[in-house]
Amino acid sequence: MKISALGEFGLIRNIQRLFPRTSPSTLIGIGDDAAALRLSSAAVLLATTDMLLEGVHFDLSYTDFYSLGWKSAAVNLSDIAAMGGIPRFCLTSLGIHPRITVEQIAEFYRGFRALARSHKAVLVGGDTCRSRNGLVISVTVLGETKKAVMRTRSGARPGDRVFVTGSLGDSAAGLEILKTGGKGQGARVRGREEKKLALKHLRPIPRVAEGRAIALSGCASAMIDISDGLSSDLGHVCEQSRVGAEIHADKVPLSRDLRRAAKKLKKTSLEYALSGGEDYELLFTVPPAQIKKLPPLKIPVTEIGMIVRERGLSLIDGAGKRTLLKPRGYEHFRPINGRAKRRI
Ligand code: ADP
Ligand code: MG
Repeated sequence: MKISALGEFGLIRNIQRLFPRTSPSTLIGIGDDAAALRLSSAAVLLATTDMLLEGVHFDLSYTDFYSLGWKSAAVNLSDIAAMGGIPRFCLTSLGIHPRITVEQIAEFYRGFRALARSHKAVLVGGDTCRSRNGLVISVTVLGETKKAVMRTRSGARPGDRVFVTGSLGDSAAGLEILKTGGKGQGARVRGREEKKLALKHLRPIPRVAEGRAIALSGCASAMIDISDGLSSDLGHVCEQSRVGAEIHADKVPLSRDLRRAAKKLKKTSLEYALSGGEDYELLFTVPPAQIKKLPPLKIPVTEIGMIVRERGLSLIDGAGKRTLLKPRGYEHFRPINGRAKRRI
């Protein structure tokens, strides 16, 4: 059977079935943003790992090595943020093609270090190999939290309100601009808003302090980071929580840069926001009685919809018209006209 017949998430479910959770110390195993492992009665270790592959996740014709290092740290820190954790330790493994230079790897680690340091996370190990086919990056981040503080994908209940941090769709639009624009930090990308969107794609800012504050406040019933796209990641929360959700199209936060740039791009701002992915913002659900506990954050937080009993996602437009919202975010091995979708 071809893997595209199952899809990325079907394949992960198969792996999950082979390794049922047996240890009581495994609070959360396969299926959330990070594994949560009980070390003592108080301490929970969070562990997450992500790969970035040349030709799949990035293209060296439009990313610079500093940004690539930054982003490799960001995608993992974001998973720790989504669990309400504090990132502590990192491990980086590289498969390096001989055409890549010592200076480029140093630049990668400068970018990685800049972001990791700003969160007081330290690099403690990794692995280095030669690769025959492009650059392979694998990053693991370990973090800590407490069981009572931790948030997962599975706690959303009907009636809970759906919130997101920041604005959505910028990164996907930035990628579109980079693919047609040029190299490194949007250097050859024209226009102020285009450059800002490109930078959102190349150097996303993981919402670590925000995730921690939301978790500590105790207001959220579930939390996830938006890595695959709003529709997909909300879909993950609903699947794990066995609920559905409705989203109001005109409440989805869209930046002014995205609105301006989208006029020249292939899709509408809303399409980028719903299915673009790689925003690394947080999505969380809050029971109405807990909304007053929402902590003050330095970035905007927007209520975009509600959790409902009926499974499935729906999108409600300004006129009140309801349409089915299919999870259309990024999925490795998703068959499209018989071909697996790739990020680039
Ligand atoms: P995220 O987008 O937050 O990084 P993923 O969709 O990559 O999450 O993964 C979902 C869950 O599946 C996570 O718990 C992850 O650890 C687990 N997972 C993914 N691939 C594998 C694999 N090959 N073996 C074991 N667990 C996996
Ligand atoms: Mg995640």
